[in-house]
Amino acid sequence: MPAGLLDIESLSRNDVEAILARSKFFQPAAGQTFKRLDTLRGRTVVNLFFESSTRTRTSFEIAARRLGADILSITAAGSSVSKGESLVDTLNTLGAMRPDAIVMRHSASGAPHFLSRYLPIPIVNAGDGTHEHPTQALLDALTIIDRRGSLDGLRIAIIGDIAHSRVARSNIFLLSKFGVQIVLCGPASLVPSELASIAPGIELTTDIFKAIDNAHVIMMLRVQLERQHEAAFPANEYFQFFGLRPEHIERAKPDVIVMHPGPINRGREISSEVADSQRSAILNQVENGIAVRMAVLERVLMQ
Ligand code: ASP
Repeated sequence: MPAGLLDIESLSRNDVEAILARSKFFQPAAGQTFKRLDTLRGRTVVNLFFESSTRTRTSFEIAARRLGADILSITAAGSSVSKGESLVDTLNTLGAMRPDAIVMRHSASGAPHFLSRYLPIPIVNAGDGTHEHPTQALLDALTIIDRRGSLDGLRIAIIGDIAHSRVARSNIFLLSKFGVQIVLCGPASLVPSELASIAPGIELTTDIFKAIDNAHVIMMLRVQLERQHEAAFPANEYFQFFGLRPEHIERAKPDVIVMHPGPINRGREISSEVADSQRSAILNQVENGIAVRMAVLERVLMQ
């Protein structure tokens, strides 16, 4: 089967480094607009999104166009999925049109892995259920490297709804390949202890002050209400215990970086003062998404 990008777990550290190096190459120089390249001219990418997305879908579209490819986006709401077509039938139909790659997001963990066994087309996972979101972890790593030079010797706190977060899982897989000290923090019901077994030394805590103590990076996560079938914590107390506020930043390292994959919920997991502060790299993450997705599409389509 053609190699797409299904997860971070199965990549080697060298693979990650190669993608990040190529992403750096695609970052536009400060103040420059990007010139369209010809690398993927004549190639067609289908963006198939069964779940909502603003950043990821747009960013794959821009990335494909900047490399000269044609890209068309299909969302579940406007497709035959809303008429009851199964996932396999939708993918077979699209496959019969012979696109060169399919970028897909789906609410079922493992959906892209399952389909990649049947379709002779590379699949890029743009987020599958609670499992992985590989390009998010790559763009997060690029953003951290931009600010800190490397991932070496860092302590990174990932705070929030870890249990339902594919962003957290992909980041844990990626950061652990680089020996980063990872601390996971959130309400006890949302921090599964199994995640600590992904790599040695992962810390778990329910105390946000403990998590941010000496952290070089604080990664906040959205509370994934759409994946919680019953309330995992009292909603009105979440911000009080796990929302990132200026008082936390005052206690953190003076050069701490605050990240969030978006969409952010101001006043639930992060305060506006912090989200809009100098410490926030949230918009850098969005910007880096394009460079990373260019590197990924090039790698998947040029092999
Ligand atoms: N945009 C990210 C994702 O699709 C994070 C989130 O939705 O909270 O997983």
